Amino acid sequence: MKPLIVQKYGGATLADPEKIKAVSARVAKQAKDNSLIVVVSAMGKTTNSLIDLASQVSAHPQRREMDMLLTVGERISMSLVSMALNDQGCKAISFTGSQAGIFTDDSHVNAFIKDVKAFRVEEALKSEKVVILAGFQGVSPTTKEITTLGRGGSDTSAVAMAAAFNAERCEILKDVPAVFSADPNIVKTAKPLQELNYDQLMEMTFWGAKVLHYRSVELAKVRDVTLYIGPASNKTSDGTLVKKGLNMFESCKALSLNSHETVLEIRSQEKNTAKALKQLQDLFEEKQIAFPQLLHCEINKDHAEILLTGPQEIMGAVKRELQSQKNFTLHPQDYSTVTLTCTGATSPEIPQQVLEKMDKAQLQAHKLIMSAMSVTVVIDASTRKQTVEALHTLI
Ligand code: ASP
Ligand code: MG
Repeated sequence: MKPLIVQKYGGATLADPEKIKAVSARVAKQAKDNSLIVVVSAMGKTTNSLIDLASQVSAHPQRREMDMLLTVGERISMSLVSMALNDQGCKAISFTGSQAGIFTDDSHVNAFIKDVKAFRVEEALKSEKVVILAGFQGVSPTTKEITTLGRGGSDTSAVAMAAAFNAERCEILKDVPAVFSADPNIVKTAKPLQELNYDQLMEMTFWGAKVLHYRSVELAKVRDVTLYIGPASNKTSDGTLVKKGLNMFESCKALSLNSHETVLEIRSQEKNTAKALKQLQDLFEEKQIAFPQLLHCEINKDHAEILLTGPQEIMGAVKRELQSQKNFTLHPQDYSTVTLTCTGATSPEIPQQVLEKMDKAQLQAHKLIMSAMSVTVVIDASTRKQTVEALHTLI
């Protein structure tokens, strides 16, 4: 039997018909020696364009309708890739998330995969077809509604399939050829990382690395799926391998820098922080805004301070909404976070070095947040790039 591999192609690698044909040629070649499930993202910036389209017809689009709209993007990619493959003499069939049996909870816009019952995929593989699967989407078996998995969620579709089929590995193929020590657009000297373990990558994605969807790494860890992040082109390059227990014997080592671009600080008049969070949740529910990622909460005697982050479109909606609220005030300046992932974060050395580097560059940190594998500084958003550059000298 041929080994089974799951490959996920990012939107940038499928941005136009030529790129789709190039990806298909690559898939056709690999299908000779492997059984393949190919998960696709929407072409180029399609998802952003669809979100923009929605905002032109509605100020508060229903999350259900957003899911109906956004799933179209991946559906375009899957059918085109399948057509191109069949044209090249490689038998292929495309499936939506619901056809492929990706079952989620019933929340819209940020649904959670609960189960995979991929009978049709199994059948297609048995008849030696390459399966092309629309990423980022599923169906709720309770509501029967189509759902999406959150921005970047195609990675999680791919890992879920790899886990369900016990695949050899899950390859996340992109136009960026590996996971880097920092965003190469900001730091010209950023280095590709050859090996990572799940915990390191989970920390990195939690703190803003866009290279993978956070939940995909969490799922890969729990289900022991070997991940490889590499280039979608045929150029030979090493990429990044993610598996259990790598490089765990280095006591104190800075590994990578990641950043959340827009972090909002919300001050609530409600003294009880649990109640304040519930009020926010209800407000977002009412306004059909997906709850952003909660980063930090400060509990004071007479108020709570809550730090939230998320994709630009969600943060924009949160800002617009909170400006007219009495119970909540928004800190007038946007913050960002910059996080150094490292081993040995529990020793005082690394946080000291971070703060020293910032002092030297005359950069101000408002808060320092520690975790087992990282040191995070909260800074003014306007100093994000300088902070990333200054701290990258630690790596
Ligand atoms: N197309 C979706 C997005 O841009 C999902 C994905 O790319 O993974 O967020
Ligand atoms: Mg995309």
